[in-house]
Amino acid sequence: MKKDIAIIGSGFSSLAAACYLAQQGNQVTVYEKNSTVGGRARQLKKEGFTFDIGPTWYWMPDVFERFFNDFQKKPSDYYELIKLSPAYQVYFGVNEFTLIADNLTEIKATFENIEKGSGQKLEDFITEAKSNYDIAIKDLVYRPGESPLELITFETAKKVNQFFSTISKDVRKRFQNKKLIQILEFPVLFLGAKPSNTPSFYSFMNYADFGLGTFHPKKGMYSVILAMEALANELGVTIITNANVEKIEVENKKVSALIVNGNIVETDVILSGADYHHSETLLDEKYRAYSEKYWDKKIFAPSSLLFYVGFDKKIENVEHHSLFFDVDFDVHARDIYDTPKWPEDPLFYASFPSKTDASTAPEGKEAAIFLIPLAPGLEDTPELRECYFDKIITRLEQLTNQKVKNHIIVKESFCVNDFIKEYNSYKATLMAWQTP
Ligand SMILES: Cc1cc2nc3c(=O)[nH]c(=O)nc-3n(C[C@H](O)[C@H](O)[C@H](O)COP(=O)(O)OP(=O)(O)OC[C@H]3O[C@@H](n4cnc5c(N)ncnc54)[C@H](O)[C@@H]3O)c2cc1C
Repeated sequence: MKKDIAIIGSGFSSLAAACYLAQQGNQVTVYEKNSTVGGRARQLKKEGFTFDIGPTWYWMPDVFERFFNDFQKKPSDYYELIKLSPAYQVYFGVNEFTLIADNLTEIKATFENIEKGSGQKLEDFITEAKSNYDIAIKDLVYRPGESPLELITFETAKKVNQFFSTISKDVRKRFQNKKLIQILEFPVLFLGAKPSNTPSFYSFMNYADFGLGTFHPKKGMYSVILAMEALANELGVTIITNANVEKIEVENKKVSALIVNGNIVETDVILSGADYHHSETLLDEKYRAYSEKYWDKKIFAPSSLLFYVGFDKKIENVEHHSLFFDVDFDVHARDIYDTPKWPEDPLFYASFPSKTDASTAPEGKEAAIFLIPLAPGLEDTPELRECYFDKIITRLEQLTNQKVKNHIIVKESFCVNDFIKEYNSYKATLMAWQTP
């Protein structure tokens, strides 16, 4: 039977759900508190520069294909994908970096150059990672998530040992060189956990990295949000922005309405794509599944300090994606996961989308996004942001051998306070879910 369905938020999750529910013939309305759709994947435009505020790595293109295919569409109906070559660059010291190619054959050669015998070991590792990918991404993630028992299948049972070892152990068993270890441990950081706490099974992220490659949607990741918004519109979804959901009303133990900007909106079903903790606080306390004590004890994905910078010149010696692993990750990781505090010497990531995509910066200029991962829930002040900006810009200058500080013409930042204010994010985490 056709239902009235109200969806809270307009990030990837809400837009995807809206499309499927509308396809099934329901009347779907999306309520987004911010003035634009996209949630953590929104976009910032300033003085001719375009920055993705959140995600910048387009991985697992098959997942996007599968999504659009469910509606007899293709990603290329909405946006153009560019495969990055090299996929990314990793700095380990002054003028010392490794380029990760866009294909496994060249990546194997790079490994072999750094550590003799590691090329074949990498191939074996990626073959296993692919098999995990086929199980995890092509099957498990599409299960409803109602019970942990969904994870026990014939295929996962065969790999049970991989749930008792970690990525960190697995990688270190095969490779000795510190650089190779860091490169192979990096992809699981996307999941928001330390490689030493992440089961080996999650090596499927390494297959996504080396096996499938890194892509850039022209005009930025926000093109994907616009594509999903367009599809939702085609399917008859109503999307309302500047619509803050203040409460979920319950009648006879069933949700009955939302309070949006002070008005009652009756509905049959409510689905929330906002963070779980926030979604629960929209209910009266007696209807919540978890207490504040429960949430406080949970381990969350990291938060981050971000900068969106426009330079008045092109930046040299960097690629579209550049990782700065010139400091000890174990020390930074402890500051994120074990004893939360601002890191002394942070690892950081920089994206220069205008290296590939001229639409993101005025001619002759460079758009840059900098990200420092942080423990969730740290203190956030303008002084701390400035101190860390200076740290990373100084490092960028030293490592890539150039002067950039006096060439900044646009600069915005985003940190803990913004994650909470903009997205109602619990402890300002990057993602709306818990770590694996
Ligand atoms: C800095 C950063 C970098 C990232 N990098 C990558 C990357 O490179 N690649 C990648 O794949 N992923 C990356 N991610 C993760 C990815 O961006 C997120 O997982 C994804 O965007 C989350 O989508 P979502 O729909 O789950 O949540 P959100 O995008 O947070 O959507 C939730 C929405 O709910 C809205 N909302 C909240 N409360 C209310 C309310 N009361 N009423 C109405 N609306 C409300 C919010 O405004 C928001 O729009 C990154 C995330 C961040 C923050």
